[in-house]
Amino acid sequence: MQIGIGYDVHRLVAGRKLVLGGVLIPFEKGLLGHSDADVLVHAVCDALLGAAGLGDIGLHFPDTDLQYKNISSLTLLAETTAMIRNKGFSVRNIDTVIFAEAPKINPFREKMRENLAATVEVDPGCINIKATTTEGLGIIGKGEGIGAMSVALLEK
Ligand SMILES: [Zn+2]
Repeated sequence: MQIGIGYDVHRLVAGRKLVLGGVLIPFEKGLLGHSDADVLVHAVCDALLGAAGLGDIGLHFPDTDLQYKNISSLTLLAETTAMIRNKGFSVRNIDTVIFAEAPKINPFREKMRENLAATVEVDPGCINIKATTTEGLGIIGKGEGIGAMSVALLEK
């Protein structure tokens, strides 16, 4: 068994779509980034890469590479899953936390879980999604950004 951690934050801006866990969420702002800026999926990618000893998301999917511009981050997660499988690993479980003052995550939680499970090719019971606010504190509390953390356990 090997464990990995992932952490990511993106800025919330007007004029962008908000995509979390591959779910398009109705909101007045979206996350800024080179891809669709799906902060939850990025944290999961980093947790998986970390557990497999494969570096980080920026190493494999650089934001200078035009082929990743506005790409769905689920595509990056699918490629990440293929990489860890090539090293002989399978996913035991993935746990996550989303840090957001708004919008409410709960109505979208199950769909996010299904998206992650389908992309990583595991049972939805192997994926967990939690959400919390920062009680108005800091950049996330002021609604300037959304963050996510993840851990992943792999077995060989
Ligand atoms: Zn990111």
